[in-house]
Amino acid sequence: MERHSPSSGIAANLARIKARIAEAVARANRPPDAVTLVAVSKTNPAEAVAAALAVGQMVFGENRVQEAAGKFPGLRADWPALRLHLIGGLQTNKARDAVRVADVIESLDRPKLAVAIAEAIAREGRTPALLVQVNTGDEPQKAGVPQAEAEDFLRACRDDWGLAVQGLMCIPPAEADPRPHFLYLAELAARHALPVLSMGMSADFEAAIGCGATHVRVGSAIFGARG
Ligand SMILES: *Cc1c(COP(=O)(O)O)cnc(C)c1O
Repeated sequence: MERHSPSSGIAANLARIKARIAEAVARANRPPDAVTLVAVSKTNPAEAVAAALAVGQMVFGENRVQEAAGKFPGLRADWPALRLHLIGGLQTNKARDAVRVADVIESLDRPKLAVAIAEAIAREGRTPALLVQVNTGDEPQKAGVPQAEAEDFLRACRDDWGLAVQGLMCIPPAEADPRPHFLYLAELAARHALPVLSMGMSADFEAAIGCGATHVRVGSAIFGARG
């Protein structure tokens, strides 16, 4: 009996989160496949990722390039459908490693990083999908382009650096109602015809789905509290 093994816990948690996503999608009258679950596996070992892969979870999120580069290449060999999203603040000098390891970079947030990613894409011949992270609460300690600069930055990504941005990502302020932030992000994406909206975490993914999220990033509700 392995009822309480970590991997059966991960499988049960995934089933629960997927059911809650499906309910939130139905409540919002959106198509059944409208939302992709990004299982945020940061700080968890490759065995935890493998347990999720074994029950069909293919999309993962990591916030550190080095950690992702250590964990994922080995798993990709066995699971070619695996998709890795980098969701953490990205140092410019890690852009090349990020382009090598990620299928999606969700944290594009400043000109220097845009230039570094464009150069890395040219050199590596590999093009991850790109999301611009917006600091919707304009919090000084948080990554993301400030609200007031978001429009210009999106234009510059396209016109100055030749980057095909596919969507937006945000992490609303911890204590606030996240809905105004989600709605702002959805509106900005619609104005720029960007199809991808990554918003909502363990505590607020249902609200994000109600506001139009196409990707929710859920970590602790799947893998347990981080140490
Ligand atoms: C850690 C993290 C998450 C997942 O947070 P949980 O509260 O554990 O679900 C989502 N997005 C980003 C950017 C993160 O760093």
